[in-house]
Amino acid sequence: MVDSGTNPQPGVQPNLEPGMPGGVTDAEPGGGINAGTVGESDVVAQIGVLLRARGERMTRPRRRVVQALAGHAGHVHAEEVVRLVAASDPTVHRASVYRTLEALTQRGVVQHVHVGHGNTAYHLLRPEGAHLHASCTRCGAVTDLPPDMLRSVAARLSRQHGFTLDPTHVALSGTCRACLSAGHRAGHSAGHSAGHSTSHSTSHSTGQ
Ligand SMILES: [Zn+2]
Ligand SMILES: [Zn+2]
Repeated sequence: MVDSGTNPQPGVQPNLEPGMPGGVTDAEPGGGINAGTVGESDVVAQIGVLLRARGERMTRPRRRVVQALAGHAGHVHAEEVVRLVAASDPTVHRASVYRTLEALTQRGVVQHVHVGHGNTAYHLLRPEGAHLHASCTRCGAVTDLPPDMLRSVAARLSRQHGFTLDPTHVALSGTCRACLSAGHRAGHSAGHSAGHSTSHSTSHSTGQ
């Protein structure tokens, strides 16, 4: 996995045909860590090993950021990471957290996704690589989608426009099931409160 982390979001290869193997699902795993199956300290240790194998160091800010993300099941906004890190280690400041998120993203440890209105959500990159997201414009919930969901769209973009799609970089925007049914119940007069929790909802206190 020497080079796998340098380009965690490779997008779609040109000349890709729909249904061909080798689409976005072939994104290199990037050495991602499955935070759901191992403890927080194990995740930090694994990422430390991964970074050192690439000649990188597990610095104090990196450790704190990884701990914050590993201890959080969903998609975390940058300001929430700042808050979590500040709570655990006041010596790591906001600018350092932002720089660290950027650095860990470049190194294939963290995946980020833009979820609209200037918000960016983060989580540790999973072993299977980067995946797609759908973001609800009403409640801010962020839902994980399979990485190959836009494969045929990406192939068509490449074929007809010479454009290489990076499908994981920005979340698809729309209305989630919960908000839609709440809207129907309320006759579209008002969305439900922002508190509904999906299986993978984000903490979006700064959201919508
Ligand atoms: Zn919603
Ligand atoms: Zn996700």
